Amino acid sequence: MGKVLVIGCGGVAQVAIQKCAQNDAVFDEICIASRTVSKCDDLKKKIEAEGKSRSKITTAKVNADSVDELIALIKSVKPDVVLNLALPYQDLTIMDACLACGVHYVDSANYEPEDTEDPKWRAIYEKRCKELGFTAYFDYSWQWAYQKKYKDAGITAILGTGFDPGVTSVFTAYALKHYFDQIDTIDILDCNGGDHGYPFATNFNPEINLREVSANGSYWENGHWVETKPMEIKREYNFEQVGMKDMYLLHHEEIESLAKNIPGVKRIRFFMTFGQSYLTHMKCLENVGMLRTDPVMFEGKEIVPIQFLKALLPDPASLGPRTVGKTNIGCIYTGIKDGKKRAIKIYNVCDHQECYKEVGSQAISYTTGVPAMIGTMMVMTGQWKGAGVFNVEEFDPDPYMEALNKWGLPWVVDENPVMVD
Ligand code: NDP
Repeated sequence: MGKVLVIGCGGVAQVAIQKCAQNDAVFDEICIASRTVSKCDDLKKKIEAEGKSRSKITTAKVNADSVDELIALIKSVKPDVVLNLALPYQDLTIMDACLACGVHYVDSANYEPEDTEDPKWRAIYEKRCKELGFTAYFDYSWQWAYQKKYKDAGITAILGTGFDPGVTSVFTAYALKHYFDQIDTIDILDCNGGDHGYPFATNFNPEINLREVSANGSYWENGHWVETKPMEIKREYNFEQVGMKDMYLLHHEEIESLAKNIPGVKRIRFFMTFGQSYLTHMKCLENVGMLRTDPVMFEGKEIVPIQFLKALLPDPASLGPRTVGKTNIGCIYTGIKDGKKRAIKIYNVCDHQECYKEVGSQAISYTTGVPAMIGTMMVMTGQWKGAGVFNVEEFDPDPYMEALNKWGLPWVVDENPVMVD
């Protein structure tokens, strides 16, 4: 059917690319590109050695910080869709290149600058903190600003098709379509009950992960943001197939788009589970300055502490063989149907070792990589179409929900869920 160019070959991309190769009726050709082309070549060899996919796979070297390099690559590969699974730092350069070439764009995380001390970015950020009332470094304004340009060019950008954001927002569109006339509250619960056996490691890119977790929390209530100190709000929750876990309220990117796209929603919160040992390690690293994102001088050379820390921590892509246990990610909704109050939970449970057996990765990469393939498929097959910049909850959720069941992330609707107080 068509050709996808995937930018990035890290933990998430490795799953998405293998799922594209499994779905060879849709993805005839897959080009994998990043700065380290040997990683892309290794994945190509792995898929080819398995001999199960008819997709043609090619690789290329690209620095996605350079719009010119990206344009040259897109012109030579001629993809139907570009799937951005590099880092949020590259979102805008890749969106610019897609625009210049008239090619559809898909990603899994919203824009965040690499250098948060950059004065030009900082001035816009500080204005936004005051106007909107949350202080996270990432927000959708940068990418939503491409709406008119993408519309005029007649191309589609799909933002945030991972699990959260991604599946959690599709769950919301599905709940609204089939279970509610009005959704009042949404609690998004992200539980990783897996154990990798290391004292400390992150399940996806450490820099992005630690920035997210060490930031202030926030939630949406009655039309505005309420900000909390990091980890200030804690709850316990008994997760299906995982058990009782501590979870903490975080700011998360889909709160922003759901607040905009789900009419009349009164409250949206996001909780993620963490063990005490993870939090103690993180606090200690933060206290000694290892989470700093600005350059410091060390023996005559500039280093960025969080990047140095990343070099010391286990590569998330290497956690696959060691991680046992399950993830349980989903959303609890309350609202009204046919004049009566109702509550439901939609969730998926994913087993780390099952993922490893199938694609050689742990469940965090798997639960992000599978929806990245599905979102790209929605655009490639024309099941989701429209000119402009969209979040996933703006489309018909049904084909996506069906694809989740088919491609490894089956979901459950619980009509009598345990609530979060
Ligand atoms: P990794 O760090 O494992 O991989 C990042 C990849 O991006 C690497 O292959 C790297 O390759 C490539 N890359 C980085 N900089 C550049 C550049 N300048 N040019 C070209 N390629 C580049 O990250 P993950 O796989 O863990 O995460 C990927 C994305 O998925 C992130 O944006 C993350 O935020 C998002 N994510 C989304 C989730 C969701 O549920 N929505 C959950 C988890 C992650 P190289 O260095 O060789 O260039």
